[in-house]
Amino acid sequence: MLNIEFSAKEDAHTCEVSVEAPWIVFTCPQCQNYRRKMHQETGEMVVENPGDSQVKHQGMYINPLILEASHSLS
Ligand SMILES: [Zn+2]
Repeated sequence: MLNIEFSAKEDAHTCEVSVEAPWIVFTCPQCQNYRRKMHQETGEMVVENPGDSQVKHQGMYINPLILEASHSLS
């Protein structure tokens, strides 16, 4: 039997990321109320609603400018 450890993945919800300039907004598809945002320039994190505080949330923001740059290179 192949034993794969998924616990790390199950512990954290993966957030959806959108940009409402100058804020980067993280929302969770599994927690309707969850919402936090980060200021693009200052890095300030504002938790508007922590949702279920027992659940870890992770989110990754990729700078669209970098995405565009890499896209045009390929
Ligand atoms: Zn969640």
